[in-house]
Amino acid sequence: MGNKIVIALGGNALGNNCKEQMEAVKYTSNSIVDLIAEGNEIVIAHGNGPQVGMINLAMESREMPLPECGAMSQGYIGYHLQKAIREEFRNRGIDKDVVSIITQSLIDKNDKAFKNPTKPIGSFYSKEEALELERKKGYTMLEDAGRGYRRVVPSPLPTDIVEKKVIKSLIKDGHVVITVGGGGIPVVEENGALVGIPAVIDKDFASEKLAEIIDADYLIILTAVDKVAINYGKSNERWLDQLSIEETKKYIEEGHFAPGSMLPKVEAALKFANSKKGRKALITSLEKAKDGIKGNTGTLISDK
Ligand code: ADP
Ligand code: MG
Repeated sequence: MGNKIVIALGGNALGNNCKEQMEAVKYTSNSIVDLIAEGNEIVIAHGNGPQVGMINLAMESREMPLPECGAMSQGYIGYHLQKAIREEFRNRGIDKDVVSIITQSLIDKNDKAFKNPTKPIGSFYSKEEALELERKKGYTMLEDAGRGYRRVVPSPLPTDIVEKKVIKSLIKDGHVVITVGGGGIPVVEENGALVGIPAVIDKDFASEKLAEIIDADYLIILTAVDKVAINYGKSNERWLDQLSIEETKKYIEEGHFAPGSMLPKVEAALKFANSKKGRKALITSLEKAKDGIKGNTGTLISDK
């Protein structure tokens, strides 16, 4: 019997422009369909950093709000993944369907992230232009590594997934679902209605939330490295095969994982492994996904 698995795809699974993405998803889909062919139930989540950045830039003169740009990126990435996975099913004679869900992630309007926006998006501006945008549009503008000023938005945690019932029933019927693209479109509830918010939800945390909601056995976060390391990039670097809950907490406290890249993955993996007995999280590369699930590579975080 296979496992129920949420796969979170990182930037390297998708590439940086349309042509690259069209190519990259072929390889990505091949790896994903390998896991499906072995009898696993797969739900796909993905990031959208470069894609939503590109859409936001192209739409800047059109006053297109960030939630709408996020929705476009889910459609654009989902379309490519759907095409490539369908093709892979066809080649292998697998009778399955795949669909992308435009997904909204609920956030708490009192999330502490709103006090400290951290995610840069869109173009670079001069100091004068930045001040003008702060005054006119109420944006928060910050200096970005000496390259000029950029708009920054908060990165709140997802508390729920709005379309979860649809996602669950599609999974139950045996369909492959692509969801929470870019962490989901951030929304808050106001008198029962949902309102899109200019923010960016980390795809690692949204994937974790999704994995809990659908009661997955595994959360697999696929990124650019085969394993997680302590003392990363230093002479005493050590790549990790297995981590207990306690070890993971200790290494997080000791600051081994870079904020914004490896830290959210390890935190999401820890949260999932700690959420219910038997749940496991694996961080590895796309190339090693199949080997990793067999226990041969990657970093496995579980309640040992
Ligand atoms: P993704 O697009 O998959 O979310 P990120 O670039 O955000 O990828 O994060 C993955 C990167 O994190 C790796 O390519 C690696 O360079 C970096 N990284 C930072 N700290 C560590 C660590 N302790 N162990 C392994 N990789 C790390
Ligand atoms: Mg990332």
